Amino acid sequence: MNKIGFIGLGIMGKPMARNLLKAGYQLIVYDINTDAIEELVKDGAKEGKSSADVASQSEVIITMLPNSPDVKEVVLGSNGIIDGIKPGSVVVDMSSIAPSTSREVAEKLLRKGVIMLDAPVSGGEPKAIEGKLAIMVGGPEETFNKVKDILGAMGASVKLVGDIGSGNVTKLANQIIVALNIAAIGEAMVLVTKAGVNPEKVYQAIRGGLAGSTALDAKMPMILDGNFKPGFRIELHIKDLMNALDTAKELDVPDILTSKVLEIMQSLKADGKAQDDHGGIIQYYEKSAKVKVRKKS
Ligand code: NAD
Repeated sequence: MNKIGFIGLGIMGKPMARNLLKAGYQLIVYDINTDAIEELVKDGAKEGKSSADVASQSEVIITMLPNSPDVKEVVLGSNGIIDGIKPGSVVVDMSSIAPSTSREVAEKLLRKGVIMLDAPVSGGEPKAIEGKLAIMVGGPEETFNKVKDILGAMGASVKLVGDIGSGNVTKLANQIIVALNIAAIGEAMVLVTKAGVNPEKVYQAIRGGLAGSTALDAKMPMILDGNFKPGFRIELHIKDLMNALDTAKELDVPDILTSKVLEIMQSLKADGKAQDDHGGIIQYYEKSAKVKVRKKS
């Protein structure tokens, strides 16, 4: 399976597509943003005219789109993947979407003789550029084995976790843990700053202990620089937590901490910060406590 279609060339999709080109795959790309297509064409990809056009020329079609409605539109909508795809092809949706949407879209593709995997990722733009994403996959093992090497060109860890939808269930868990972790960092670091202690020294003192985490090491240097350029936008994390709450409600599971952090993110959105990196959650606490957690010169 050498001919790959790639739809959705945003912050994540662009570097992921570039890593497939570097690994020697033939790539046909499409995005509603024509500038993104041009950039990839310069790197050696072929331009697709629509999602259907990409699907008609590919054996594996990868999508990397914002949310559930976008995936439905690109796969099932007019001039969508389903209009061009050949039976026996594989669709790998790498977007973070509602698990129920993954199952619904996969069922419609199956009627066309096409198997879909859901394969969302974690690691953000830096790991996408390095080709070291964590990729969590749902779908049949036989199909997973067919595309494992392709996913390996974009990720350091590629794990099959269960049936279709399981990839996105795993991603919801990932997003709950990351959101709560970043909110805890914000709450704690505003407290130490208000108490008159240098937050940079606190970070260095705790990062090797149980409070240390990948989230702490990724976000604390950004916070100390006051750099909230995305990265992963608060707006996208709101989408993930809403999908988590919907899934929790369907399953009668309490979602106490997730709903509180979602409210913090919604307040930041109302305050004009939806496009900031999610490391910017700390700004909610900084505004209330009237301190800024920054490097001391
Ligand atoms: P993005 O908004 O930067 O990119 C999405 C791309 O999809 C854009 O280029 C957009 O033009 C394109 N698009 C939208 N609708 C389309 C359509 N109908 N047809 C063709 N193209 C269309 O988003 P991103 O940050 O790259 O995130 C993509 C997905 O990956 C999201 O589900 C996000 O939650 C997830 N994710 C993001 C990160 C991160 O750090 N940015 C990390 C892990 C997972």
